[in-house]
Amino acid sequence: MTDCIIVGAGPAGTAAAYHLARRGLKVLILEKGETLGSKPCGGGVSPAVAAWFDFDFSPAIATTVNQVRFTWQQGDPVEAQLQTQPMWMVQRPIFDQFLLSQAETAGATVQMATTVTGLRFDGQTWQVTTNQGPLTAPYVIAADGAEGPCAGWLGLKGMGKRAIAAVASLAEPPQFPHQAQFDFGSVKQGFIWNFPQGDGAVISAAVMEGNGKPAELAQQLGRYVGNGVTVKACVMKLWHQQGPLHGKNCLLVGDSAGLADPFLAEGIRPALLSGVKAAEAIAAAHGGDAQALARYSEEMQTAWGHDMALAQRLAGLFYKFTKLAYKIGVKQPLATRLMSQILCGELSYSAVTDRAFQALKKNILPFG
Ligand SMILES: Cc1cc2nc3c(=O)[nH]c(=O)nc-3n(C[C@H](O)[C@H](O)[C@H](O)COP(=O)(O)OP(=O)(O)OC[C@H]3O[C@@H](n4cnc5c(N)ncnc54)[C@H](O)[C@@H]3O)c2cc1C
Repeated sequence: MTDCIIVGAGPAGTAAAYHLARRGLKVLILEKGETLGSKPCGGGVSPAVAAWFDFDFSPAIATTVNQVRFTWQQGDPVEAQLQTQPMWMVQRPIFDQFLLSQAETAGATVQMATTVTGLRFDGQTWQVTTNQGPLTAPYVIAADGAEGPCAGWLGLKGMGKRAIAAVASLAEPPQFPHQAQFDFGSVKQGFIWNFPQGDGAVISAAVMEGNGKPAELAQQLGRYVGNGVTVKACVMKLWHQQGPLHGKNCLLVGDSAGLADPFLAEGIRPALLSGVKAAEAIAAAHGGDAQALARYSEEMQTAWGHDMALAQRLAGLFYKFTKLAYKIGVKQPLATRLMSQILCGELSYSAVTDRAFQALKKNILPFG
């Protein structure tokens, strides 16, 4: 008997599987890929996530970053040393496989090359249809990412909205192997982030506000990376509004729940956080706590959603008046330091937004 089926072996699904297995529940992860980590991703991870696990992440970290460089249309640079712990840079195939192995060691079972094709609750158990045949379990966690179908089948909208993104990989070692680069202004209402990965780099772009066009974004990223580098268009799901992440015996986690930061596009930390909290909730529900799944939705709202609402307000102004925001915000040493602290998970948006809104409004409105 399986207690919980988890659809998707990305960071959200494997974090949930690890913590459920550690609590002694029988967990089955279904993953459609034959291997892991083909997901387009910059691979920047806040070191704050280490606090939620009792194992050492170092085998999964390709390199670390201790310096950030911001540019406006690849010029007008500002550089800063991180006054925080170094930020981790991971290669997703290695990072995802590392987390999956931790979950397996804790006791979770994994079935690769298994695509979930439908979910139906019969009043007591979830009937899960897959390309490998039917399966059942009393609880289901949807961890199937930004484009996964599970949230729709569960009748849950989650908190996210789709955003256009693009990604390119460079095979040669970067000139500054411990520097993360962010470029504003080259992408309309969005930005480009260029992260070292040890022996190469991943360069990502996203339209954070408004409706971007995939071909246009791919072209803009193409201009940044130069001729001959393949650019792939993809999709992100950014936090957009509060919404329940639970239904009858089921939960949404990670991108399936729509948790990525709408200002800086960080999705791995909330994916891991939601996996940890989903495991707590399912274990409590399995033990007879009838309110546990509803509490998961509330806790994710408190622990993450409130801050993302502020991030979204900031993004609304920042990406509308990006040139001004770059001049009066990003270029100021204090703002650079605060942004770095947010990226490293050491500061929440609530600590910076009042000041940022005031500064932006003062410069936008004639008598602000
Ligand atoms: C271009 C780009 C750059 C990014 N850069 C960063 C960054 O630098 N730092 C950061 O923190 N975040 C970044 N993100 C966001 C981050 O990649 C995601 O938020 C994160 O991967 C979410 O993890 P997840 O486990 O929810 O989903 P995923 O990692 O997408 O995992 C979902 C898994 O579900 C599987 N699956 C899907 N459907 C099914 C099905 N029907 N049956 C079985 N399995 C299924 C998929 O194969 C996949 O393995 C970036 C995103 C993009 C698009």
